[in-house]
Amino acid sequence: YLDRQSGFESNARSYPRRIPIAIRRANGIFVEDMDGRQYMDCLAGAGALALGHHHPVIVEAIRRTLAEGIPFQTLDLTTPVKDLFVEELFASLPKAFASQARIQFCGPTGADAIEAAIKLAKTATGRRSVLAFHGAYHGMTHGALALTGEIAPKLHISGLMSDVHFLPFPYVYRCPFMLGGEIGWRASLAYIERLLDDSNSGITPPAAMILEAVQGEGGVIPAPDEWLREIRRMTKERGIPLIIDEVQTGVGRTGCMYAFEHAGIQPDILVLSKAIGGGLPLSVVMYHKDLDHWQPGAHAGTFRGNQLAMATGTATLQYVKSHRLELHAHEMGIRLMGILQNIQKNKPQIGDIRGRGLMIGIEIVNPVAAPDALGIYPPNRQLAVRIQMECLKRGLIVELGGRQGSVVRLLPPLIVTSEQIDQIGTIFSEAIR
Ligand code: PMP
Repeated sequence: YLDRQSGFESNARSYPRRIPIAIRRANGIFVEDMDGRQYMDCLAGAGALALGHHHPVIVEAIRRTLAEGIPFQTLDLTTPVKDLFVEELFASLPKAFASQARIQFCGPTGADAIEAAIKLAKTATGRRSVLAFHGAYHGMTHGALALTGEIAPKLHISGLMSDVHFLPFPYVYRCPFMLGGEIGWRASLAYIERLLDDSNSGITPPAAMILEAVQGEGGVIPAPDEWLREIRRMTKERGIPLIIDEVQTGVGRTGCMYAFEHAGIQPDILVLSKAIGGGLPLSVVMYHKDLDHWQPGAHAGTFRGNQLAMATGTATLQYVKSHRLELHAHEMGIRLMGILQNIQKNKPQIGDIRGRGLMIGIEIVNPVAAPDALGIYPPNRQLAVRIQMECLKRGLIVELGGRQGSVVRLLPPLIVTSEQIDQIGTIFSEAIR
């Protein structure tokens, strides 16, 4: 994967590039490499493994599916497995949303559900433009990529959906035209509202606005609750359907079952994947019934009837609910944030620590370079990569993200214990030292 003569580094087999281990088996929060070394997995399938690896209820759901001869795939045919999954999924959502919602099963990836959400909004409104946010990540298919708020992944792909307008996300730590803190995100709202009402802005009435309540790949950036409430007000007043992408945040990760609940708002369209499949591929779009102008077959996909994923998804939803794992995630998140903030006190390389529940980002900076006008040091991807590798050496797998790749991301499974949280903190502390 690395052509040494030309220096060309292919994306093929991208993980071996930086994480030079092969995983033989896994259990709970741990994975084990070919040499029998154990690592704490704070990537957890990029958030897909809410219950960690091989949780007994997941293993049991798979065993039962096999033992009872339940078909793996049924497309749109109804089955008791699907019925139960739909019931649990609706029960996991706020009543005000669930009672008005319809569900569309999608191809198994988050990106496919994003495509469906955009198509749905366009069909329902008859409009074509979409509002998205700087730093957003919605997937890698053509439509989802067009909504990605970063240039690099789009650079060589021509013909992407062009009618996308990018708005400023409240990234208050490092947003050049915001002044930080409360005033900063209020500035973003004022700007967005003005843009929406400016007939010269080039923004025609949009088919939808799409956002993540906590940007994940973009560097773990939680939107303030009041910001979300104001965005909800603005979109509602102007008849713009609001799509909330909870592919990464859904099912307890941020301390609530769904991240939009922190703000007490509701989306018009909700996109879910990752954790709802219990580690197996599954994605859905849920939407207000008033938007249901779809003709049969308007969105299809061979693997949208994945019974095995619905069985493991049901097991996950039931376990999260019965063990109040969203509250556990909230508590464990506070514990980990506290440990990290202590480490930050004498490590100027840690610029910012932010997150919600068990979705935490540590922005690594270069404190010997010149700070910007607001006193913020430039991002330091090189050091972030070194910290990632030092964590790996000590048995901790973390991922990087953020617009400059300088944010260390921690996404431990929701079943992580307080002892394990302390251990993660200790390893991170040693790694950065
Ligand atoms: N939306 C968000 C918020 C995501 O984090 C991701 C994946 N990281 C996606 C969409 C795309 O999901 P998938 O990789 O399954 O296509």
